Amino acid sequence: MVNYNKITPAVLTALKNIVSDKFIISDDDRRAPYAHDEVTDSRYHSMPEVVVLPENAGQVAEIIKLANKELIPVVPRGAGTGLACGAVPIYGGIVLSLERMNKILEVNANSLYMVVEPGVRTDAVQVAAKKENLFYAGDPCSGDSCFIGGNAATNAGGNKAVKYGTTRQQIYSLEVVTPLGEIVNLGGRLEKMTTGYSLEHLIIGSEGTLGIITKLTLRLMPLPQHVVDILAVFPDVDSAISMVPTLIKEGITPTCVEFMDNVTVKSVENFIKEKLPESDKGHYIILQIEGQSEDDMDDKSVMVDELCMKNGALSVYVADSQKIWKARKSFAEAVRHESFIHGKEDIVVPVDKIPEMMREIAVLSKKFGLVTRTASHAGDGNIHLNILKGSMPDAQWDKELETFQKELYAVVYQLGGKLSGEHGIGYKRRQLMEQFADPVELELMRSIKKALDPNLILNPGKIFNVM
Ligand SMILES: Cc1cc2nc3c(=O)[nH]c(=O)nc-3n(C[C@H](O)[C@H](O)[C@H](O)COP(=O)(O)OP(=O)(O)OC[C@H]3O[C@@H](n4cnc5c(N)ncnc54)[C@H](O)[C@@H]3O)c2cc1C
Repeated sequence: MVNYNKITPAVLTALKNIVSDKFIISDDDRRAPYAHDEVTDSRYHSMPEVVVLPENAGQVAEIIKLANKELIPVVPRGAGTGLACGAVPIYGGIVLSLERMNKILEVNANSLYMVVEPGVRTDAVQVAAKKENLFYAGDPCSGDSCFIGGNAATNAGGNKAVKYGTTRQQIYSLEVVTPLGEIVNLGGRLEKMTTGYSLEHLIIGSEGTLGIITKLTLRLMPLPQHVVDILAVFPDVDSAISMVPTLIKEGITPTCVEFMDNVTVKSVENFIKEKLPESDKGHYIILQIEGQSEDDMDDKSVMVDELCMKNGALSVYVADSQKIWKARKSFAEAVRHESFIHGKEDIVVPVDKIPEMMREIAVLSKKFGLVTRTASHAGDGNIHLNILKGSMPDAQWDKELETFQKELYAVVYQLGGKLSGEHGIGYKRRQLMEQFADPVELELMRSIKKALDPNLILNPGKIFNVM
């Protein structure tokens, strides 16, 4: 166990000397929002001693050097939309918020890249690309609030990962401040590279435990010109979800394949107060199809329509894009509206195992008598299973959830899956990580952490326990 030091008046003065008085938050009211992310259970919240808002990599490096010298933990924070308590300062210390580093530095329409600071909102990246008739493919449902640096730190997925991959695939290179306070550029604006270890890929998805991302060079693409959203309604979960392997086998690569079970459709409908198509009839599969031309898109849509009907769909529509994506993206808020405290599982399994996984979830949910809401990025095997706590007493909730998770993840791992497809491990899933990850793999991760961060000052206590 590292005995971290508290922030003394001398440390506070040193921090003020780095970023100036104005960009230090030390009063209770203004510190409170930095004590949590989007996890609502207050038992997972923890107040930072101070919040520091640097404006460039040089200042970040100075803060990190000071933290090493004084043995004070530092937790990098983006927009705080995380769902794993990754940005929660469980040992107090400094929250280093990247919110002031929010500039788009370059959009290069000729060479198809964009250079941004980490505090740029993801939808601002999308809008800036679109202005140049270009496309940024990262598309988490929280895009209107999360930061691009947070997306890289969590390797965020989202709706378009089926075709374009996760945030990792959208990044050429990163500027990073190491846990010892050095500034380094990793990766390159290259289509191939075998030049030592791919350290940029080690940083991506490391949840702020191996370095602080201070600049990103993002990959852009020409904006797809022919896009259609399709809604297929199915009478049962099995026929809906088995569409996924069917589509893949037929060689159709949709941009998105999202699933919402019927209780979730109704929950969202109630939350957004808008009637959704056939919400009383079945489960949704939302597909987005891109085509090289209008004809190509139409041909693919006809194929999808036929496959859905063959798979037992009740109906297949060209969807009202705005409405259907508003519904899908409101899922998390609708769940929160129903039950402020809820379990949020982020299961990922091989795509061909998703029907089997859904059947096992139904069996387990029934066995435990759980009230669930399920939406998933079905096309990439990622299932968001939400379990509502409702009025269950805390002690009973903790016990039931723990027993359920034990059985659930035993099945997930048996099917070749993992604990988290995109939200990360953070603090919330740390115990599960210790329980389910291969012990040798965990030991390798611990060795990397200790080698890069010998004083264990950067986001300690996340992903796994090192101490
Ligand atoms: C309504 C809703 C919908 C969501 N939908 C999706 C979705 O579709 N796909 C998905 O993947 N996630 C989704 N999320 C989760 C969340 O939005 C993502 O994990 C997002 O990438 C977090 O970004 P952030 O800026 O809020 O990071 P934060 O929550 O602030 O931090 C997340 C982690 O990244 C680290 N971190 C943040 N910035 C940096 C940095 N610059 N350098 C180093 N480490 C850093 C933090 O220490 C922490 O461990 C959703 C969340 C909500 C509330």
